[in-house]
Amino acid sequence: MSAPLLPGSTIGVLGSGQLGRMLGLAAREMGYRVHVLSPGDDTPTGQTADREVVADYLDLDAVREFASRVDVVTFEFENVPTACAEAAAERVPLRPAHRVLHTTQNRLREKRFLAGAGFPVTPFAEVRTLDELVAAAAPDGPVGTPAVLKTAGWGYDGKGQALVRVPEEAAAAWRAVATDDAILEAFVPFEREISVIGARGQDGAFDHWGVIANDHARHILDLSVAPAPVAPEVAREAVEIARGVLEELDVVGVLCVEMFLTGGGRLLVNELAPRPHNSGHLTVDAAVTSQFEQQLRTVCGLPMGSTELVRPAAMANLLGDLWWPGSEAGGGEGRREPDWSRALAFPEVKLHLYGKADPRPGRKMGHLTALAGTPERAAEVALAARRALESSVRPGRP
Ligand code: AMP
Repeated sequence: MSAPLLPGSTIGVLGSGQLGRMLGLAAREMGYRVHVLSPGDDTPTGQTADREVVADYLDLDAVREFASRVDVVTFEFENVPTACAEAAAERVPLRPAHRVLHTTQNRLREKRFLAGAGFPVTPFAEVRTLDELVAAAAPDGPVGTPAVLKTAGWGYDGKGQALVRVPEEAAAAWRAVATDDAILEAFVPFEREISVIGARGQDGAFDHWGVIANDHARHILDLSVAPAPVAPEVAREAVEIARGVLEELDVVGVLCVEMFLTGGGRLLVNELAPRPHNSGHLTVDAAVTSQFEQQLRTVCGLPMGSTELVRPAAMANLLGDLWWPGSEAGGGEGRREPDWSRALAFPEVKLHLYGKADPRPGRKMGHLTALAGTPERAAEVALAARRALESSVRPGRP
């Protein structure tokens, strides 16, 4: 084990979105310096960093120079190209290690890893051509229908996905995803989606924030609630799956395991994210130690903080749609700025905005976290606060 990186050290972050911003805020609170590298400038992470390097991820000289000026490199975005991660790792420790990034940035590799290690997943098949898709989706094929066709690489938030309800829809789905590197997964008629965010130290210590319940809208996370209303044995099993995944991948850092819970009480792993996760944003306000502080502590080799949830909590995402009431972006009624004081009028609601100037539909602009006596009440309050913001932008209001 290497010596811990103490406050005063510099954290290098690859990727510059809200996850890096919240990591950076946690790091600066504890006296660390933060450098960020991404192709953008004035980014959510850059706005709160000591140094923002604007470079393509494949400008490997810039990546090496960036890495040589920090003490450890981590990432907030799993689509960082392999060559970039390897170039950074030539100079300083990369945590989690390159293998974690490589396995989780491609859905097919990820599912093969999970299935190979014995974790429960829905049936799946690799499809590179329409013929392979037709064969996989056939009634006697390895997957059948209904099924979900997904691009294997570079996908997130439901982008590059198409439902194949019946075999006859295969050709249309193939055209919709427009790739020659895809995975077909059997559709899971889930009762609930859940996540467990795990953290693991250099010494192999593991901790987690329990089970979080997630609702999606248009394939994008909409609402997360903790603790999730699931049976204790389901929660235990979900945590054991997460522990197993972090151990199997030898993760040093934070990794989220998204799972489906079926009506029969079965858990199936859907996806891994090798970093803090949107469903864990509520840990910032509701837990003794947030997922971002824990990421900092683990990548720096420090002891982990308590993951205890101090109060039940719910997080509602704020997407760019909020700015465009009742119309497509750029058209109809036009853009309006939400009246943030309407959400802040709920005293147990915390507002988080990511500093993004351009609110496009589907783009994550911020979130609200509500704390309450029960998870159900927290969800009601978070949704009520978001509705108040929505009504503040309705046409007709001054
Ligand atoms: P993903 O990008 O794979 O996490 O998918 C985004 C969302 O699509 C998930 O959170 C689910 O709501 C839905 N979804 C993805 N895969 C499946 C599946 N195999 N069966 C049912 N729903 C799915």
